[in-house]
Amino acid sequence: MTGKPDIADCVNETCPWSGKPVSPDALALYRGRVVGFCNPGCRNKFETAVAQFDALIGTPAGSE
Ligand SMILES: [Zn+2]
Repeated sequence: MTGKPDIADCVNETCPWSGKPVSPDALALYRGRVVGFCNPGCRNKFETAVAQFDALIGTPAGSE
């Protein structure tokens, strides 16, 4: 997969924060899959959380 995440590949239909439909301009890549949110603010909240956890945990044992 290259380029921008595509909403056609998005694994969820509604925003996990709000329950609203996923917006095509609020997609992110997570564990190699496309995940979606209702707006970029929700996506940024997710990406900030994931980045902090990734930094704390490091590379998972036995993967990558
Ligand atoms: Zn949202």
